[in-house]
Amino acid sequence: MNNIIAKLIKEHRLTLDEYKELICGYDEKAAELLRDEAVRLRKEIYGNTVYIRGLIEISNICKNDCFYCGIRKSNKKCERYRLGCEKILSCCDYGYSLGFRTFVLQGGDDGYFSDDRICALVSEIKEKYPDCAVTLSLGERSEESYERLFAAGADRYLLRHETADSEHYARLHPEELSLKNRIVCLEKLKKIGFQVGCGFMVGSPYQNAVTIAKDLKFIEEFKPDMCGIGPFIPHKDTPFSNYPAGSVDFTCFLLSVIRIIKPDILLPATTALGTLSENGREKGILSGANVVMPNLSPEEARSRYMLYNNKLNTGVESAEKLEGLKKRIRAVGYEIVTDRGDIKK
Ligand code: SAH
Repeated sequence: MNNIIAKLIKEHRLTLDEYKELICGYDEKAAELLRDEAVRLRKEIYGNTVYIRGLIEISNICKNDCFYCGIRKSNKKCERYRLGCEKILSCCDYGYSLGFRTFVLQGGDDGYFSDDRICALVSEIKEKYPDCAVTLSLGERSEESYERLFAAGADRYLLRHETADSEHYARLHPEELSLKNRIVCLEKLKKIGFQVGCGFMVGSPYQNAVTIAKDLKFIEEFKPDMCGIGPFIPHKDTPFSNYPAGSVDFTCFLLSVIRIIKPDILLPATTALGTLSENGREKGILSGANVVMPNLSPEEARSRYMLYNNKLNTGVESAEKLEGLKKRIRAVGYEIVTDRGDIKK
């Protein structure tokens, strides 16, 4: 195990078999070694700064039926909503005044948000706040659509690959969705010029050391600018309601590994991490993460964008709450900054 850790630290890459061995050899001691190196690398590039992104959940209407997701089409209990453009813009206004310089528009695959609508929205945000970045997380779209969104001024796109093993992918998604198309989308986004983020859930049903090794290999080869990983958390009204949640500590271990694979990566301590453990996001930062994404959505959206049970519902709807988050991050030695937070290549 120690020679594998040494190789990863030296070469920032492993073979598939070595990744598998690394995962199987996971224990507190290995986690500590990797954490130390991950923190050293992130400090070399980003110092002790933590970037914030204002997350705006624009719609929970979705045509897809992903087995793990609480806003899947078949969940009849989900109360659906979508935010109007005015509402979204007012979230940005407020976020800007709090110091946010990146807005993330995320949502289900909702046909209402056509290219025309998203482009108009993105142009308006960029015109009002030329010093801000806009990140989109709106699922799989056509190449032409991605091109238009980029031309309208969107800077980044988050599309988690979910798992890099196609059989595993098929056990998490309905037939219409494939790993192949997911990867095609990621490649297109990169080619167009977006800063691109992939990622996966830790502890999703049927995940194992081989599928995670493939995830790590994919990240190593694809070289994303961002990577979102968080524990799987069951949602009571999905086919996976009875599966156990992923582990916070193992997620932190993988955060450290990903930081070492790609030292300059933008790596969020995700909401799911903060949902499972009161100080989950701090643990993520202390394992090598350098981004947090507080929720800027209005209350009606926050309570309904339920991807999983008990999703952390504390937004930063007041300056005091953001101050509270800043204090918590400061208490573990890091500093939230007002910055677009681009990747430092
Ligand atoms: N429709 C967009 C956004 C999806 S929501 C898209 O397809 O990209 C963002 C992420 O939440 C998903 O990519 C998934 O990895 C995560 N997620 C969904 N359900 C979850 C659950 N039950 N537990 C943890 N994470 C979940």
